[in-house]
Amino acid sequence: MKEVKDHATLAEQFNIDEPRVNWHDETLWFVRQKRDRAAHAIPDWELLRETASGIKQHVLSNLHDYLEQFEANAKANGITVHWAADAVEHNQIVLSILQQHGVNRMVKSKSMLTEECHLNDYLEQHGVEVIDSDLGERIVQLAKEPPSHIVLPCIHKKKEEIGEIFHEHLGSPAGMADPQVLTETARHHLREVFITRRAALTGVNFAVAETGEFIVCTNEGNADMGTHLADVHIACMGIEKLIPKREHLGVFLRLLARSATGQPITTYSSHFRKPRPGHEIHMVLVDNGRSTQLGREDFRNSLKCIRCGACMNTCPVYRRSGGHSYHNAVAGPIGAILAPNLDMHKNADLPFASTLCGSCSNVCPVKIDIHDQLYKWRQVIVKEGYADKKKGMGMKLMTQTFASPAAFQSAGKAGRWLLKNAPFTVNNQLNPWYKQREMPVPPKESFGEWYRKNRKKNEQ
Ligand code: SF4
Repeated sequence: MKEVKDHATLAEQFNIDEPRVNWHDETLWFVRQKRDRAAHAIPDWELLRETASGIKQHVLSNLHDYLEQFEANAKANGITVHWAADAVEHNQIVLSILQQHGVNRMVKSKSMLTEECHLNDYLEQHGVEVIDSDLGERIVQLAKEPPSHIVLPCIHKKKEEIGEIFHEHLGSPAGMADPQVLTETARHHLREVFITRRAALTGVNFAVAETGEFIVCTNEGNADMGTHLADVHIACMGIEKLIPKREHLGVFLRLLARSATGQPITTYSSHFRKPRPGHEIHMVLVDNGRSTQLGREDFRNSLKCIRCGACMNTCPVYRRSGGHSYHNAVAGPIGAILAPNLDMHKNADLPFASTLCGSCSNVCPVKIDIHDQLYKWRQVIVKEGYADKKKGMGMKLMTQTFASPAAFQSAGKAGRWLLKNAPFTVNNQLNPWYKQREMPVPPKESFGEWYRKNRKKNEQ
């Protein structure tokens, strides 16, 4: 028995509102087009991608050395380093730091890792209030929803809906949907949060082993505002985010924002190296399944991901089924690769939520073979017995049919006859394929029949 609804069921709910689906699709495609323009403006784009992929490959092959080097340098800089084997340990560490400082209100910015670990829920259960300070994240937090995209967390919401949420929670006038006014409302609300919180948590985009520093990329500057006004800065990082040297940073910074939103660079790329006097920086290095993925030869490349979201913006399935249908903190193609590593049973449906068109691999700035990995996951999931049993039986039947020319021809004939004379037998709600599309008009004859007829004609 599954604990969560699968992708197809959740996507069906999203697809009920067709104009919204079209709008979601077009909005994401607009971002993808911006990315294309930004990428094509750089003559060495492919070389950059190749270089980034190579650097990440090298880091993954020497991860333990770089982690130790980073830890030693960060400690020498005065940063306190913690290690978390999994999400539970990560959450406990964050809570214990807050408790040591008697803090029960925290501001947070830019961290999909804490979404992955369900930190907000955990802290809330332990009496700590967490305010997400990035605009998109704050909106979904007020709406009591998870982000639906890793870079654009509330891309699924229209400005009118955001106006309603702000009216309900932040007191903006009813019916107000002007983005300028809504942004001002959020800014005033967050100013009050920033100056009253003594602890701030951020994610990490890159950490440099050579210097023990880490970099947080943002467009709003909220991470800086939170951390500069707080006494304690907690930075949470997946262990794969390391790069060896500072000189490598330029490669990734040039790729990240262009791939994510088509910008040449994020507005802020903030470096954190050592705490100011009287302040503390804590770095929590989190494994949570990453070393298992590192050990899976076919899937280790997925750890190169720099979380730009380009694979989501281009994915026809993501664009037309929305991020929440992935029931995973990281949605879209890369999420569908990372999720089964954490729980193969719960996430067995996700690698099947793909057309395998390859567009994701095509745009990925670090050249992850995303669609190949999705295809490989399908094989692993079927072999391990986690695939949908009905689908398995269907595939067996198809295999037998395709293996026998006589069975294939008879099945084709029967199918064409049914579609022509009794279309209701397939065009009905019992057929999942019919739910969002009409079945095709059947051809008059099979290709085999056409070929035999025409070859015969040519031979005469
Ligand atoms: S897999 Fe590639 S395209 Fe997708 S988010 Fe990660 S880096 Fe970006």
